[in-house]
Amino acid sequence: MKSVSLLLVIYLTVSDAFPAAREIKDGHDSMQMAKEYLKKHYTLATDDGKHFRHQNRDTYSGKLRQMQEFFGLEVTGKLDNETLEVMRQPRCGVTDMGKYSTFPRRPVWKKTELTYRILNYTPDMEQSDVDSVIEKAFLVWSQVTPLIFTKIHGGTADIYISFVAGYHEDFEPFDGPSGTLAHAYPPGDGLLGDAHFDEDENWTKGSDGTNLFLVAAHEFGHSLGLHHSNVFGALMYPNYVYSDPDHFQLSQDDISGIQDLYGAATYPIPPIKPTNPTTTCNRRMTFSAVTTFRGEILFFKDKMFWRKIPSSSEVRSYSVLSFWPSLPSGIEAAYENPATDQIYFFKGSKYWAFSGTDMLEGYPKNIHRFGFPSSVKKIDAAVYDEVTEKTYFFVENKYWSYNERTKTMEKGFPKHIVGDFPGLVQNIQAVFQSDGFLYFFKGKWQYEFSTTFKRVMRILRTDSWLGCNDEN
Ligand SMILES: [Zn+2]
Ligand SMILES: [Zn+2]
Repeated sequence: MKSVSLLLVIYLTVSDAFPAAREIKDGHDSMQMAKEYLKKHYTLATDDGKHFRHQNRDTYSGKLRQMQEFFGLEVTGKLDNETLEVMRQPRCGVTDMGKYSTFPRRPVWKKTELTYRILNYTPDMEQSDVDSVIEKAFLVWSQVTPLIFTKIHGGTADIYISFVAGYHEDFEPFDGPSGTLAHAYPPGDGLLGDAHFDEDENWTKGSDGTNLFLVAAHEFGHSLGLHHSNVFGALMYPNYVYSDPDHFQLSQDDISGIQDLYGAATYPIPPIKPTNPTTTCNRRMTFSAVTTFRGEILFFKDKMFWRKIPSSSEVRSYSVLSFWPSLPSGIEAAYENPATDQIYFFKGSKYWAFSGTDMLEGYPKNIHRFGFPSSVKKIDAAVYDEVTEKTYFFVENKYWSYNERTKTMEKGFPKHIVGDFPGLVQNIQAVFQSDGFLYFFKGKWQYEFSTTFKRVMRILRTDSWLGCNDEN
C-alpha cells in the first residue's frame, strides 16, 4: 500500500506540475511537523557549492527545497500537500543529506570480516525468526561484496543490533509508532556501525506491521557506509516501501554504491544455466533429501524423486519404490560415497545402505552406529566431501564430521553450523556437493556455499536445478 501511495504522490506531482501545487498556509501543526522533519533529516546540510547556489541553505525554505529535490517533488520551498504526504511516510531516521556531504573521507570498514551481535530481541517476533531475518539482511550485502558477516554471542562486535524505544542514550530518540522506524551509524568504533530498531513499531516477517528484513537490510547499508539514495525502488531509499522479502533484489543503485566502497564479490559467480522449463517448477517446491549418485543429482520429496543429469536439461521423476523397494517414503537425508559406490538413506533413527539399487546386508541399521549421542533422533541432511573423505551430518544447529576411512566420528564435534558455515541457516533440510560448492536446502531456498571461500555465495530457488527460474 505504501508503495502505491508514494507512486501516486509522484504521479500527481508530475501530472500536476502546472498549475503549481497548492501551498499550505493555515496548517500550524503541519508546519511544526515539517520543521521537525527537516530538523531531523535535513539539518546536517553542508554546502558543496554545486546545488542550490542561489538559496540560503540554512533557512526553512532552503531545506524544504532540498527535501523536495531529493524526493523528486516540485521544488517550491513551500509546504504543499504532496510534500507533506511524503513527510508523513514511515522512514529511516538517518539524514538524507549524505549525498551532499563534503566530508573528504567516506567511512568504511577497513576489513572484510565483520562481526555482529544481537543485544536484545523484539517481543513482536519469534527469536529464531529475528535471527534468520538479520542473517538474511546481512547476506543481501555479502553477496555483492567481499564482506563476510559472522554472528557472535559475546565479546566486542563491529555491529551491535538492538530494539529500543524513545530515548536510548544516543541523542537521537525514537518517536513512538510509525515515523522513524530505525537508524544506524556509519562504520567505526563504539556506537558507530550499530543499528537501532524502534521497539514501538510492530516488527514482523510479513507484510503486516513493519517488515524487519527490509528495514534491517537498509540499516545495514548505513552500517557499511552507504547514504540514502533518491532512487525510488532502491533499498537505500529513505522511506519504508513494502516489497515481498522472498523476492527481494538489490537495485543497481545499491549495488553500485556498496561496490564503490568495498569492491565486487571476490569470486566470480558461476551461473546455473536454466534449462528447459519442466512441469515440476513450483515456487513452493521443497526437498527433504538431495544427493549425488553416479554423476547424477537426485532430489527426494515424499515418495518421489527427480533425477538430474548435469550435462542434460532433462529432468525425470520416479517413485522411490521403483528403484529402492525397501525404502520408506519421506527420506530425510541421503549421501553418496563414490569411493565405494554406495548410497545411504536416512529416516528417523534408521539408515539404509545400497550399492546401486541393491541393499547391503544387515540394513536398516541404527544411526547411533555412526557415533551420534542418544539425544540425536534424526539427521536433517548429510553430504560426503570428496576432498576430505569425510561425511558431514547436519542436525538442527550443529554438525558432525565422520571419517569414512576410519569409520569413526571425528573428535571436537558436533560444532555449530553458523561458526563453520557463515551465512548458512539452521535446520537445513538437504545438502549435496557439486564443483566445489555445497548446496544447502531449506524450504524454497537454496544456499550456495563455496568451500574455497567459506561463505554463502548466492541464494537460489530450491527448484533451480530442475531448470526452473523466475520466468516459470
Ligand atoms: Zn536510512
Ligand atoms: Zn539510536
